[in-house]
Amino acid sequence: RFITIEGIDGAGKTTHVTALVERLRDQGHEVVHTREPGGTPLAESLRELVLHRPMDALTEALLIFAARRDHLREVIEPALARGAMVVCDRFTDATFAYQGAGRGFDTAVLAQLEAWVQQGRQPDLTLWFDLPAAVAAQRLAGARVPDRFEQQPQRFFEQVADGYRARAQAHPERFAVIRAEGPREDVWRQVEAALAARGL
Ligand code: ATP
Ligand code: C5P
Ligand code: MG
Repeated sequence: RFITIEGIDGAGKTTHVTALVERLRDQGHEVVHTREPGGTPLAESLRELVLHRPMDALTEALLIFAARRDHLREVIEPALARGAMVVCDRFTDATFAYQGAGRGFDTAVLAQLEAWVQQGRQPDLTLWFDLPAAVAAQRLAGARVPDRFEQQPQRFFEQVADGYRARAQAHPERFAVIRAEGPREDVWRQVEAALAARGL
């Protein structure tokens, strides 16, 4: 099974992904823990360009889908084919949220790229960490050196959050909404409940 973790910057994705992977491994699953943009040497190189070089939204979307194509071929599809679970910190919903809703790029074109690159592959479960942009901004203030997206105004992240909400409404079968503004223990309980609801 293929599990993705989504949400705006500072929502708590990376904080919870390790415990999630450990929980699945404790249950005896082989788990591949990966992330996007990135996950292969080529895709990590593309990530560096996307995060640090200014570019228009189409170039950004093409580089991210190129990275995703390599990641799918080299890591995700082979793992799923041998029966392993894949846990990925961000995937295509992030492209709809950031490049689509955030930067205003045509989501119909993103959907075409998605179909072309993924050949029908979709996550089985997406944990969406839903957090108000203002709370995320407080968490990230001073926490680390910002990349070029983290320098965006709060309004940008409100649009990104709206983009995630639209994806969650369009794909209710695979989305689990995690209310992420509470303390870590509360967020983790919701993650566990979402897994348990799917027999994990
Ligand atoms: P990004 O998309 O930028 O990688 P992220 O979703 O992975 O962000 P984290 O790096 O996990 O977010 O968390 C952002 C910051 O918020 C970190 O400093 C983390 O320690 C803190 N944090 C995470 N969860 C909570 C929580 N429930 N309450 C308060 N602070 C939290
Ligand atoms: O989640 P992670 O820290 O790996 O994301 C790195 C940066 O890339 C974040 O600032 C995020 O906003 C940005 N990003 C993006 N478009 C995507 C995925 C991530 O702008 N599709
Ligand atoms: Mg993170």
